[in-house]
Amino acid sequence: MTIDLDQLRSGNRRALAKAITLAESKLDSHREQAQLVLEQLLPFTGNSIRIGITGIPGVGKSTFIETFGLHLIAQGKKVAVLAVDPSSPLAGGSILGDKTRMEELSRQEYAFIRPSPSEGALGGVAQKTRETMLLCEAAGYDVILVETVGVGQSEYEVAGMVDFFMVLMLPNAGDELQGIKRGIMELADALVINKADGESLNLAQQTKRHYENAMHLLRHTSFWSPQVLTCSAQEKNNIDTVWGMICNYYVDAVKNNYFTEKRARQNQEWMDKLLLEMLSLKLKQNPDVKKQLPVLHQKVTSGETTPFIAAKTLIDLL
Ligand code: GDP
Repeated sequence: MTIDLDQLRSGNRRALAKAITLAESKLDSHREQAQLVLEQLLPFTGNSIRIGITGIPGVGKSTFIETFGLHLIAQGKKVAVLAVDPSSPLAGGSILGDKTRMEELSRQEYAFIRPSPSEGALGGVAQKTRETMLLCEAAGYDVILVETVGVGQSEYEVAGMVDFFMVLMLPNAGDELQGIKRGIMELADALVINKADGESLNLAQQTKRHYENAMHLLRHTSFWSPQVLTCSAQEKNNIDTVWGMICNYYVDAVKNNYFTEKRARQNQEWMDKLLLEMLSLKLKQNPDVKKQLPVLHQKVTSGETTPFIAAKTLIDLL
């Protein structure tokens, strides 16, 4: 498969889609080619703001992304929407992908919507989404929305690849806080209470105050305290306030050198993670290790040797 890099950079969607297909391919040869494409495009990546969006099913993620995306396009932005779905099609049924989503946004010339990749080999689904994100940046998309659902590790993975991480919530004051994984709150740069409309408007305001009082649970940086906002994705209320908040964050993060530092740290952490995965794969594929592993398991089980010595013996075989 040949990818026309000039076409991709000029924003040609077919060239972009082809490059993404290559990156998502199960064939080693395709993935190697994708890495070469990525390396050549690397100087043209990074010129976007990467926003992670999470929330339980039904909170209004797709409605929000549709409204938010259309708002951004009206501001002259090019918007890419990517998804990290831990239960993607091949793993049996997807949480994010199986309904008709973001219909109006998907018809826009300046929107690009890509469903979650199916299970990835090395680095998993998140690795592919990272690569897709870079390809979209090279194609000139200046806002990348990465959506995920609150299952397992996916929020951590998404938070580790974006500049700004947002948790959508329902108007539901009270002990709802207990229902949300504490760890996720700690990842949030903002909590956005959606469905602040109609009869829920008051409840949404109460919920906002409730979370503002729980702010001490959230992670603060030297220049940013997580914000709590309300909006209505359906009624298109306060969508501009959410975007305004992210723009403020961006300006402050750049001013404080935090923006590039965070990205550099994310890249390093990602490299370390890949390195560990590659090492582990190499270990498992080594013929001597394959032969010795059951023998050493047995020795450890029967108490003939210690787990430490067994593990060290295998490492020394590499
Ligand atoms: P997702 O599962 O998080 O992607 O949620 P959806 O976007 O599919 O929305 C779930 C339901 O909530 C749908 O019936 C939407 O019409 C509704 N919904 C989404 N946003 C709003 C909102 O701002 N206000 C109200 N009242 N309903 C909303």
